[in-house]
Amino acid sequence: MFSRSLLGSDTQLNQQSYYEASVVRPLPNAPLHGAVQADVVVVGAGFAGLSAALELAQQGLSVVVLEADRVGSGASGRNGGQAIVGYASGQGPFEAQLGEADAQCAWDMSVEAVDLIEQRALALGIDCDWQRGYTYVAESARKARALQAEVDDLRRRGVDCDVATGDDVRRLIDSPRYVAAAYERRSGHLHPLKYALGLARVAQAAGVRLFENTPVTGLRRGPTLVATTAHGHVTARFGVLAGNCMLPEYGPQVAPEITPRVMPVGTYMVGTAPLDPALCERLIAHKAAVCDNNFVLDYFRFSADHRLLFGGRVSYTTMTPHDLKGVMARRLCAVFPALKGVPIEYVWGGFVDISMNRAPDFGRLGDNLYYLQGFSGHGVALTGLAGQLVAEAVAGQAGRFDVFSRLQHRPFPGGSLLRTPSLALGMLWYRLRDAL
Ligand SMILES: Cc1cc2nc3c(=O)[nH]c(=O)nc-3n(C[C@H](O)[C@H](O)[C@H](O)COP(=O)(O)OP(=O)(O)OC[C@H]3O[C@@H](n4cnc5c(N)ncnc54)[C@H](O)[C@@H]3O)c2cc1C
Repeated sequence: MFSRSLLGSDTQLNQQSYYEASVVRPLPNAPLHGAVQADVVVVGAGFAGLSAALELAQQGLSVVVLEADRVGSGASGRNGGQAIVGYASGQGPFEAQLGEADAQCAWDMSVEAVDLIEQRALALGIDCDWQRGYTYVAESARKARALQAEVDDLRRRGVDCDVATGDDVRRLIDSPRYVAAAYERRSGHLHPLKYALGLARVAQAAGVRLFENTPVTGLRRGPTLVATTAHGHVTARFGVLAGNCMLPEYGPQVAPEITPRVMPVGTYMVGTAPLDPALCERLIAHKAAVCDNNFVLDYFRFSADHRLLFGGRVSYTTMTPHDLKGVMARRLCAVFPALKGVPIEYVWGGFVDISMNRAPDFGRLGDNLYYLQGFSGHGVALTGLAGQLVAEAVAGQAGRFDVFSRLQHRPFPGGSLLRTPSLALGMLWYRLRDAL
């Protein structure tokens, strides 16, 4: 049924990933066997779970991380690597629900989240090809006006942008597709799997016990939590659920009350063969990551070894699109005709956990089980900060975590069988708007 096919297609989507091919993974950590006690049990070893584990261990707590697959095998090890200030939802839900002061606080935290990546890379010695620089592009006059409004907002919030229109766009990106572009220096990009493996390494060095190939299938709640797995269990005072879209696939009963509030949406990437470094510099200035402002967006950048990593296309049905490589090659060539015929060596994808309003969905179940979800395709930077906020809350400083936990989220209508088709239908409207 639905669950099985999501897990199956997710696993299949990770088989030809550039990121997996460009790292040497350490030997797997052994699965959990037997009974273990800890202060905190974390479910999921993506950016969110690893960040929480690291921060909690640095506070002196004993932490166990249970990962169903391998470190970074979910979205964290497969994404576009683009670490962007702001939220997928924009500021709208924050301003409408929390008021101006807390909305501004949320904005500031999104900037802090990007800076945190650089701080960790430097302070913890995580070599993850971190690079500042981000270019937003627009492909029509209507979208150029929307981009200008975004730039005005960024400037009001203290993020400066270099704007180009008409022929001047080629100064920032050598593509016939765009009529406007805006370059900002705060956001950036990285090799996400190197970052995830680096976080795991430093977390383990700080005392975190990490078990891989260990899905959590059940969770008993109460003042003491008990997370159960196939061959063991962990007893802990606090828990952190950071399982993203796969949480209900591995453990349908772990947190059934929060899972209808996020939907898995497939998104896909390709990686070309290495290109001439001079060509890369000509095509995208400042080594920036690039993203357009369509609803179904194209996002791309060059890797440290000069491959174009190009993301785009989505699936709201969770089924992998037919002829994915061909579709992606056509999208890529529409942006950079100069790359026609360049070999595509990698094709992969994964699922993002979108919430109804595209704002992040953080909170608590009872007073000791935290959850982090709803990153809505904007989680590369925010997951890191989210882990830090959980650690602050566990230490009794919940103010910043509660900026997020006060946001209200609605479940997707239709239950587990109907919400995917209704989402697909709803999104058709936005795709039509992109074409206008
Ligand atoms: C193709 C793609 C491109 C993207 N591009 C960008 C981008 O450019 N910029 C951006 O900001 N965001 C992007 N995203 C989104 C971003 O990657 C995610 O928001 C972020 O990585 C989520 O991190 P996470 O730790 O919450 O989840 P994940 O990295 O998915 O980690 C969750 C982990 O939990 C494990 N797990 C789940 N259930 C259980 C269980 N029951 N027991 C044990 N373990 C469990 C999973 O195996 C997984 O390893 C992209 C996502 C994809 C898929």
